[in-house]
Amino acid sequence: MRKKLAAGNWKMNGTTASLAEVDALLAAHPAPGCEILLCPPATLVSAMSARIGDGPIHTGGQDCHAEPSGAHTGDIAAGMLVDAGASHVILGHSERRQDHNESDKDVRNKAKAAIAAGLVAVVCCGESDAEREAMNTLEIISGQLAGSIPDNVTGENLVVAYEPIWAIGTGKVPTLDQIGEVHDFIRTQLERRFGEGVGRSVRLLYGGSVKPSNADDIFAVSNVDGALVGGASLKAADFSGIITALD
Ligand code: PGA
Repeated sequence: MRKKLAAGNWKMNGTTASLAEVDALLAAHPAPGCEILLCPPATLVSAMSARIGDGPIHTGGQDCHAEPSGAHTGDIAAGMLVDAGASHVILGHSERRQDHNESDKDVRNKAKAAIAAGLVAVVCCGESDAEREAMNTLEIISGQLAGSIPDNVTGENLVVAYEPIWAIGTGKVPTLDQIGEVHDFIRTQLERRFGEGVGRSVRLLYGGSVKPSNADDIFAVSNVDGALVGGASLKAADFSGIITALD
């Protein structure tokens, strides 16, 4: 059985004052039945993980560099995230792919570095509006998975997030059939490449305008093992509703 995962991506939001939201989440979910992950901006990883202590919420980064150290101004190595208390890192989010021209190969190299440092790599994939309109969704997803996921993955060190770009921050959500089609496809691709054991144990998250009001329906779709949540992860009250739907 795959353990459900509620992952929050704070993106470029939050200051130390926002850690009050973490306190509220801890109070609301002292012993959750699902895994909870919060990925704040890098400036807050250390403070958030210290605040959580041995509580039931994991802390993650939103990106890491492919190299362990060096002359890369502004970048953060996977080992530094571990040192700051992170256990996970989001990689290949569409905003990174777009804003920083990250290719599948870049994402794969980052995922290799993350896994080598002991992090769980949350690798994102997803099609644009135009790609869906052109009926290319599965081809795009297939290429992103093949290019972005390294060879040495297991159900423990990899999570895959399906995030249609047109659903991120827009309030638009694919139909449940569309979500199911892509999640089933990703599962099959993983089983083919890594074998049934690994392929069946990797958690698949849906992301894109998940809210407390649509979470129940989305979580009932086959091969949806949780969510990667942006906007609705910023406030404990909203994220808590999503966690409750998964619990
Ligand atoms: P959203 O973002 O929940 O605000 O749509 C999801 C994401 O980008 O991970």
